[in-house]
Amino acid sequence: MAGEPQDDCLFCKIVAGQIPATIVRETETTVAFRDINPQAPTHVLVIPKAHHKDAGALAAEAPQLAADVLRETRAVADEEKLDSYRTVFNTGSGAGQTVWHAHAHVLGGRGLEWPPG
Ligand code: 5GP
Ligand code: ZN
Repeated sequence: MAGEPQDDCLFCKIVAGQIPATIVRETETTVAFRDINPQAPTHVLVIPKAHHKDAGALAAEAPQLAADVLRETRAVADEEKLDSYRTVFNTGSGAGQTVWHAHAHVLGGRGLEWPPG
């Protein structure tokens, strides 16, 4: 069911503390941790603690939680002292989504080209 932890989900395991991660922020409903394969000097993932498969599902199933995730992207950028940064939700394998638990990438600390590749 939407929102329930999934046994086979990497990010649910990070939320449960079963897989280690470098956590930079945590709230009642979200966790922010450093990406294991950083693409910029700051590359942090912000996830809802509840399992939703992607950003669209999160927005439809739990809009307040989607707002919590967005608010946390700003908080991460502030903590990392980023004036400019990019928030990315890869949605679907064709767009590069590899983990099927909604997450926002917060990227910054270098110039970011637009449009992206
Ligand atoms: P996606 O490609 O789904 O948008 O993003 C998934 C992200 O999760 C990737 O940037 C990848 O590097 C990151 N990732 C995958 N496995 C782990 C892990 O075990 N720990 C952490 N911290 N990040 C991970
Ligand atoms: Zn999950």
